[in-house]
Amino acid sequence: MKVVIVGGGAAGMLAGISASDGNNEVTILEKMNTLGKKLRITGKGRCNITNAADIKEFISNIPGNGKFLYSVFQNFTNEDIINLLKKEGLETKVERGNRVFPVTDNAQSVIDALYRILKKQKVKILTNAKVEDIIVKNSEVIGVKYIVDNAEQIMEADKIIIATGGASYKATGSTGDGYEIAKKYGHTINTIKPGLVPLECYEKNLCKELQGLSLKNISIKLKDKEKNKEIYEDFGEMMFTHFGVTGPVIISSSSHLVRYKNIEELFKNKNIELSIDLKPALSKEKLDLRIRRDFEEFKNKKFKNSLDKLLPQKLIEPIINLSKIDGEKKVNEITKEERNYLGEIIKNFKFTISSFRPIEEAIITAGGISVKEIDPKSMESKIVKNLYFAGEIIDVDGYTGGFNLQIAFSTGFVAGRSI
Ligand SMILES: Cc1cc2nc3c(=O)[nH]c(=O)nc-3n(C[C@H](O)[C@H](O)[C@H](O)COP(=O)(O)OP(=O)(O)OC[C@H]3O[C@@H](n4cnc5c(N)ncnc54)[C@H](O)[C@@H]3O)c2cc1C
Repeated sequence: MKVVIVGGGAAGMLAGISASDGNNEVTILEKMNTLGKKLRITGKGRCNITNAADIKEFISNIPGNGKFLYSVFQNFTNEDIINLLKKEGLETKVERGNRVFPVTDNAQSVIDALYRILKKQKVKILTNAKVEDIIVKNSEVIGVKYIVDNAEQIMEADKIIIATGGASYKATGSTGDGYEIAKKYGHTINTIKPGLVPLECYEKNLCKELQGLSLKNISIKLKDKEKNKEIYEDFGEMMFTHFGVTGPVIISSSSHLVRYKNIEELFKNKNIELSIDLKPALSKEKLDLRIRRDFEEFKNKKFKNSLDKLLPQKLIEPIINLSKIDGEKKVNEITKEERNYLGEIIKNFKFTISSFRPIEEAIITAGGISVKEIDPKSMESKIVKNLYFAGEIIDVDGYTGGFNLQIAFSTGFVAGRSI
């Protein structure tokens, strides 16, 4: 059987590995000059391959159609990808939050290991080969049309797996081509949105002032002010940028916001509030004790010179401005009310979210080919026979922590295998 895989990312490579496990003639067509360009930048270049969680926890970490993946996760598990890499000589390690990384701390070593398996199993790899269309006859695939060196070529196929990825980080090759092809043959594409993405704030000047400041061990809350409802709460690390906020807790929160009803409208009406607790380990009372201790130590200093021990340097001026206490005031002249208000600001440093950053900057694309049109056991299209989908192109998306790559590996493996 001739199997053609469109796209040589995480999903395409795994599809190639499982499809070539028998007597099939397998080809990967990749439009970039090399396989796995996005894989190479995952996990800040270290590649958070998967998560050591069990299936139940996996599904709960995939807010975008997690249940659809139950069967593929059973058929190709986190242990399966770990063992596949191990067999190829690449050991892994488990870090905070059960995140699994290669011991090399190098994403390229993951690509190299997968590439070696593909080569051993005699998978043909054509790079700089951009698939333009598939050829379908009587609702069944018969081939693909692709461009190499500006010339159109046709390759016959008994089975086609589309693994062209999402629509973010376009420089890695995922420009959304697969959506167009799938749509042309009758598939529904659920609206494409940024899945895990930084957030822009209305307080642009303040964010610019704080640009580059990374806050560890803080907690955040996102609130819908219209309904006076808390949407999200998290603890961890975040960063300020010229446009707003980013970092792990912010990016994870975006995945909840993207599913929140009328979110664009709420952004427009300045109704989504981000509140940062800069001292989550201290209760209001304990924080007050702590401030009083610092004030005692600096009692003869000006207020503006009294917060060095409590806050990072970049935060001092903005917090002083918000506290409405004159920075020139002597610390021993600050009233109890003023001190209480200062504590409130430190525990509730507020911003207003104005929008998501563009999809180009998203870690993952939410939306994609409707799961209703894909057989969850095989990844075959329910509309076109012998056409399969794998990876981010499908309308599934998970939180950070290795869940998204496991989606690509599992769907890719199952799509390649089931014949
Ligand atoms: C900065 C960043 C960091 C990330 N870190 C992590 C992480 O640590 N852990 C994790 O689990 N997830 C991470 N992700 C998400 C993860 O990278 C994706 O979920 C995963 O790469 C999806 O795999 P895929 O094979 O579906 O798509 P891709 O990896 O995007 O591969 C698609 C491939 O198809 C090719 N292609 C597209 N169109 C055509 C065409 N017309 N013809 C031929 N080829 C085509 C592309 O060039 C590309 O190589 C990260 C994402 C980003 C952007």
